[in-house]
Amino acid sequence: MNNRVLLVDDEDDILISLKRNLVKHFQIETANSGIEAIRLLNTSPQFACIVSDFNMPKMNGIEFFAEAKKIIPNTLRIMLTGHADLNVAMEAINQDFIYKFLVKPTFPDILIKHLKDAVEYYRLQTMEKEMIDMKVNFISIVANEFKTPVNSLLTAAYLLPEFFKINDQKKVDNFMSKMQITLEGMNKLLEKILTIGKLDANINLKFFDLDIVSIINELIKEFKSADSIGHDFLFDHLQTQLYISTDLVVIKLIISNLISNAIKYSPKNSIIKVKLTNEIDQIILSVEDCGIGIPENQIVHLFDAFYRCQNVGFQKGTGLGLTIVNKGVELLKGQIKVNSIIGKGSTFTVILNKDQRIYKFNQ
Ligand code: ATP
Ligand code: MG
Repeated sequence: MNNRVLLVDDEDDILISLKRNLVKHFQIETANSGIEAIRLLNTSPQFACIVSDFNMPKMNGIEFFAEAKKIIPNTLRIMLTGHADLNVAMEAINQDFIYKFLVKPTFPDILIKHLKDAVEYYRLQTMEKEMIDMKVNFISIVANEFKTPVNSLLTAAYLLPEFFKINDQKKVDNFMSKMQITLEGMNKLLEKILTIGKLDANINLKFFDLDIVSIINELIKEFKSADSIGHDFLFDHLQTQLYISTDLVVIKLIISNLISNAIKYSPKNSIIKVKLTNEIDQIILSVEDCGIGIPENQIVHLFDAFYRCQNVGFQKGTGLGLTIVNKGVELLKGQIKVNSIIGKGSTFTVILNKDQRIYKFNQ
C-alpha cells in the first residue's frame, strides 16, 4: 500500500519535528520550499498525500498545491498552517486544491489520524480507477476477440447463396461446417466471459461441507470419458474422504480448468497426476503434467485474460481458463502457484483453507 507522505514547510525545525512524529506510521519525504517539492514530485511522483504550510516565501501553499495538482491530481493535499486566515481557507477549498485544512499546532495523534484517513482514501480512489481501467481494457479485448469469427461468418453468409445458385454442394457443405466450428468457438468464448462476469460480481457463494475426494474423482471420470487422446490419470490421495467447506461451482471451475489444460498441453498417453494433500487447516491440490511447459518469462502473464503462451502451436483455446481459475481461487481466499520446465511439464498448485466460510464474501 502506498503510504508515502510529502511534508513541505520553510521552517526546518517544524519539518524535523513533524517527521519525527510521523515516521513510524508513514514513509516520509520532506522539502523546505514549494519549488523543491515540485522538483521532487517531477522525479518521484508516487505520494498518497502532501502536507504543506501556507506561508512560504516565493511560492505559497495554494500556489504550490495548484502546481502539485497538475503533476499528481489524485494525491491528497492537506494544508497545515499557523495563519488560519478564513480567506486563505476559502480560496484553497473553492479552487479544489485541498482535501483538508488543519491549523497549527496540530497534535501528532490528530495529524496521524487525518493522514491515515487520507492514505485509505487514496488507496480506494486508486483501486477504483484501476478497476475501471481493467474493465475498459477487458471490453475492448472481448470486442476484438469476436471480430475475426464475426467477419468469417459474414463472408460465409454472403458467399453461401452464390454456391447454392450454382449448385456447388461441396462448397456449401464446406462452408456450413466451417460456420459450425466458428459458432461453437464463439459459444465457448461467450460462456467463459459470462463465467468471468459472475465471478467478478462475487456470485452468491454457497458453502457446503463437501467431499473433495469424490469431487475430484467425478471430474477425472468425466474428463477420461471425453479425452479422445487418452491420458493416464493418477489421483494421489491418502484419505478416502476429505470434507472441506467450499462452493461446489467455484471449486469445480478451478479443478476442471487445470485438468483441461494438463490434457491439452501434454502428449498422448502421458500421465496427469492430481495430488491432494491434507494439512491441519488447509488442503493442497496440485495438477501435474508432462507436457510442453511454460516459457519462464511468460509465467507472469498466465492469469491475464486472453493470454496464450507462444509455444501453444495449433492447440486451440481462448486464454480465459486460467483467468477463471485465478478469480475462483481469489474468491475462496486461496493461493495458486505455478512450476514449469519448458519441454518437461507443468504443475499448478492450489492451497485452500478447509473452512472457507470464515472468509465468506458479501454475505
Ligand atoms: P481456454 O480458455 O480454452 O482454457 P487456454 O487453455 O489457451 O484456453 P488458459 O487456460 O487461460 O487458456 O491458459 C493460458 C495459457 O497458459 C495457455 O494458452 C497456455 O499457453 C498456457 N498453459 C496453461 N496451462 C498449461 C499447461 N498445463 N502446460 C503448458 N502451458 C499451459
Ligand atoms: Mg485452458
